[in-house]
Amino acid sequence: MILEEKLKSEIRDVPDFPVPGIIFKDITPIMMNPVLSKEVLEELKQSVLDLGITKIAGIESRGFLFGYPLAMELGLPFVLIRKKGKLPYHKVSHAYALEYGQAEIEMHIDAVNETDTVLIHDDLLATGGSASAAGQLVNNCGAKVAGFSFLVELEFLGGREKLLPFTENILTLVR
Ligand code: AMP
Repeated sequence: MILEEKLKSEIRDVPDFPVPGIIFKDITPIMMNPVLSKEVLEELKQSVLDLGITKIAGIESRGFLFGYPLAMELGLPFVLIRKKGKLPYHKVSHAYALEYGQAEIEMHIDAVNETDTVLIHDDLLATGGSASAAGQLVNNCGAKVAGFSFLVELEFLGGREKLLPFTENILTLVR
């Protein structure tokens, strides 16, 4: 079975979570399957090898699950992008609009700089709001976005369009 089929059979659809009308893509069964987890890591690694990445930034919190192992696998530093108020040291932040209201993400001030080309990683691409905000935060620090990687892309939400201004390197394992 190809990787995409294996992932589709493991990822669990949970209807009406966290709110009615949303089908939540639960990736925890992948975590329970170490052989598949290794395959995911290897596929991510091979797909980003040629992008000239200097650092990987993971988006809280499920972006940490494969982002950090991927960084170790590639021998690269890993950077945390977190919701406002979670990081302890001096920070840079970026506020962005949600459908209702506003959100703010943060990164440590010394995490990336103008010498970096960064891969931004998360578990899932939906509307692209979180990933494009992460891209903006990275750009605000003077760094380039080398690519985005996700396990799952919900194509019908068109999030990819929001990321194209940063880079055409948008890798998703399941569509
Ligand atoms: P967005 O900013 O709309 O692209 O949403 C992506 C972020 O929200 C990611 O960090 C995902 O973990 C989470 N997310 C959004 N929709 C879902 C979904 N249907 N299932 C699981 N996670 C989701």
